[in-house]
Amino acid sequence: MASPFDIAIIGFGKIARDQHVPAILGSERFALAATVDSHGPGLDGVPHFRSLQALLESGVKADAVAVCTPPQVRGQIARQAIAAGLAVLLEKPPAETPGGFAALKALAGRAGVPLFTAWHSRFAAMVGEAKAWLAGKTVIAGRISWRESARKWHPGQRWLWEAGGLGVFDPGINALSILTELLPDPVVVTSSAFEVPSNCATPIAATMTLESGDAVIAVDLNFLEEHGEVWELELTTDGGTLLLSRGGAALSIDGAPAKTALDTEYATLYAHFADLLDRGESDADPAPLGLVADAFLIAEISPAEPYHD
Ligand code: NAP
Repeated sequence: MASPFDIAIIGFGKIARDQHVPAILGSERFALAATVDSHGPGLDGVPHFRSLQALLESGVKADAVAVCTPPQVRGQIARQAIAAGLAVLLEKPPAETPGGFAALKALAGRAGVPLFTAWHSRFAAMVGEAKAWLAGKTVIAGRISWRESARKWHPGQRWLWEAGGLGVFDPGINALSILTELLPDPVVVTSSAFEVPSNCATPIAATMTLESGDAVIAVDLNFLEEHGEVWELELTTDGGTLLLSRGGAALSIDGAPAKTALDTEYATLYAHFADLLDRGESDADPAPLGLVADAFLIAEISPAEPYHD
């Protein structure tokens, strides 16, 4: 077996600790070389820095970085990593804007550096089986309901509510990443409506209408759901109805009891990244970010009550 890739995590917050660290430590293909966080602590025994620049100047060897900061600073960090010749895994959303992402992709291409848009929900347990079931069927209609409590899942994350933080589209983009993985035709946003708290720059609730081929998909995103999470995507086809629930971890066909499998979302994601590194290739899909940007362009905006954690 080839020696593991040395990887550094940049932005050592919730997702880095909850998912990236266990996935890296559990993989034979990666070694955790360092962590970087602007303020917070690292891990015992792992070199920790305050900036990517400080890591690059330290002499600690890294082949790749996983950028797990808030999205507003991701592009600048990714550009710096690419310039240093490091492969880059981008947590979702991969950049602040589609234009910023296109520039990043071009930069990585010119530098010959692998770039990976890590749409983690595409690696949820039942998404692959859902895609296989859909093959050869025509989607007629769809529904996305992605509702969770910002107070429960994102306390203290002020960046979510600032420009570029996406608000309710931060979880909602996960649904869009699954949808764009499942549907063979391009997806287009035809209407959107946002509720924006008076003290925030980003929506706390949103509805959208999407079209793909002849199918119309109704989307309901909400960050004020206090009765448990609803992470559902339903597609009605000419051959039955598919319901992905639990964010892609459970699959039901035509109302049958849901099937599920062991959660290996981030382990599979890192296995895919290792494959990309082996082959020196990128997997850089901007489609979900494009849908969010389009929704922001045409949104009818209504004011909402101020939001506080
Ligand atoms: P978080 O808990 O706020 O963590 C982000 C970390 O990045 C914080 O420790 C922050 O430090 C640090 N940071 C900010 N600017 C930095 C910089 N310039 N250099 C180095 N570190 C910097 O947020 P999170 O929940 O982990 O989410 C991070 C990203 O992962 C988001 O894009 C999110 O959409 C995505 N994600 C989150 C989840 C989830 O369940 N939470 C799931 C999947 C993906 P300070 O707090 O000191 O600024």
